[in-house]
Amino acid sequence: MSDCIFCKIANHEIESDYVYEDDQVTAFRDMNPLAPVHVLVVPKRHYANLVDGVPAETLAALVHGVDEVAKATGVDKTGFRVIANTGDDAGQTVHHLHLHVLGGRKLTDEGPEGAGHAE
Ligand code: 5GP
Ligand code: ZN
Repeated sequence: MSDCIFCKIANHEIESDYVYEDDQVTAFRDMNPLAPVHVLVVPKRHYANLVDGVPAETLAALVHGVDEVAKATGVDKTGFRVIANTGDDAGQTVHHLHLHVLGGRKLTDEGPEGAGHAE
């Protein structure tokens, strides 16, 4: 999608603070971090959200990307949260599938990190 910010970041039309990349996914730090580790894992191809006909192979690549991000940031040892805000009531603001990886501190059940975005 030509006007999609995450398409541009995922394909290096706009540079970002990258943490991991392979042929299917790109991971970069959220510009408004809600935790010491707050990384977004996105497919290079555009899907609106997690249930927008995403192929199983891409879903597996995203999970692999989460694993790589966890290892690269050290939260594989301490624990982390993965969130996919989907649609308006979840507060999805960028309509290109992205998984939030949050960690580096004790996460609460309530509060903005519970939804993966700031109120
Ligand atoms: P959503 O609320 O859609 O689940 O989350 C979108 C996230 O993308 C937000 O946490 C927001 O801070 C982040 N974000 C939006 N635009 C950009 C950008 O241009 N660069 C980066 N690194 N993060 C972005
Ligand atoms: Zn996109």
